[in-house]
Amino acid sequence: MRVEVLVVGGGPAGATAARVLSREGRSVMLLERDPEQAKPCGGGIPSTAFDELEIPLSIPYKSIGTISLVSPSDRRLDIDLKGGSIIIVERKDFDSLLRGLAAEAGTEILKARLDSVKTHGSYVEALVNRDGRLEKILADYLIAADGVNSTVRRALSIAPCESVYTLSCRTERISTQACEFWFRSDHAPGLYSWVFPKLKGVSIGTGSLTPKETRTFLKRFIDRRFNNELSLNEAHSLRGYRIPYWQGNLYVKGRVLFVGDAAGQVMPFTYEGIYYAMKSGEFAARAILEGKPGLYKKLWKRRFHSRFRFMKTIERFFLSDDRRMEQLFDIFRREEVQEASMKLWLVKDSNRGSLIRYINFFRKFLN
Ligand SMILES: Cc1cc2nc3c(=O)[nH]c(=O)nc-3n(C[C@H](O)[C@H](O)[C@H](O)COP(=O)(O)OP(=O)(O)OC[C@H]3O[C@@H](n4cnc5c(N)ncnc54)[C@H](O)[C@@H]3O)c2cc1C
Repeated sequence: MRVEVLVVGGGPAGATAARVLSREGRSVMLLERDPEQAKPCGGGIPSTAFDELEIPLSIPYKSIGTISLVSPSDRRLDIDLKGGSIIIVERKDFDSLLRGLAAEAGTEILKARLDSVKTHGSYVEALVNRDGRLEKILADYLIAADGVNSTVRRALSIAPCESVYTLSCRTERISTQACEFWFRSDHAPGLYSWVFPKLKGVSIGTGSLTPKETRTFLKRFIDRRFNNELSLNEAHSLRGYRIPYWQGNLYVKGRVLFVGDAAGQVMPFTYEGIYYAMKSGEFAARAILEGKPGLYKKLWKRRFHSRFRFMKTIERFFLSDDRRMEQLFDIFRREEVQEASMKLWLVKDSNRGSLIRYINFFRKFLN
């Protein structure tokens, strides 16, 4: 088989890349090893992303208008998103919606697992496992959208992404109307724990910089948040999963373009990955359409690099211990910081002036 572009992975990054390319008439094949899987994920996406990426909200969803931050000493801040909202989806529905849009645009979708890849001067050769049979596919370009445990990275001898470790679970017994972010190093050292509303019930999880003790951390968090109302043993769908820790060092290798989690493109500090996976897919597709793979890195850097770097600095400084987390909380109490954060996070304001004003809030405070 020969195609112009082979996309490996049918999550938000791969499905978006495939859709953009197919719309322009390119021959695209997308491989997804398991279309029935539901990735463990909060499924929170800023509502503005749906307009920007022309995604119809034709699946069940929940719209959330408040986020709550809770400091290590239990100070609570409820932030009204003032007209903006976070759309919560089930990942199985959302990923299959995106793949459906790609298929409508002309992408051929194959239930198959990529086994290995070789790059040659003017094409890429992929070996694919389809129902136990190995098939060879040749492509002008390959888009690696196969997530944090990328097979393409491994096949091309690129070290795995650095990452943080999460453990999450679900329960239908409890409901909440806000996306909650809880900070304290005894249950989320260097990160945060969360309770996210789902269509039914909530997802509860915690993140940490090492894989050790995640179960102890999650149990501790559940005890803190729910007191005697819930225990870890009563929750279901307990799953550990890695989230990439952004390095900003992998975009293109020859005719292979890396997008989404496979490239580590998750926003530091917030760990928002779905929107950035879709945008990286779009940028990689645009670069291929222009016949200039290097354009992908340029598009990404122009739009997102500065804010990623800034958020990484914030994360490293403020999440390193409880005293600093309390300081961060003091900054977020200020109305103008809340407004600016929501603009950057929800509206995806890409104006350089806004980012600089935002950075200055933090500078002023630290001085
Ligand atoms: C617990 C948790 C909660 C999160 N919550 C949020 C949130 O609320 N909001 C948010 O924005 N982000 C969240 N994220 C991050 C988000 O899930 C990811 O950043 C996002 O899914 C990345 O999309 P992707 O398309 O790059 O990769 P993925 O979604 O991981 O998709 C990769 C796809 O590739 C397929 N694949 C893998 N290997 C192969 C192979 N060899 N052959 C064929 N197919 C293959 C997989 O089956 C999968 O469908 C969360 C992550 C975790 C772990």
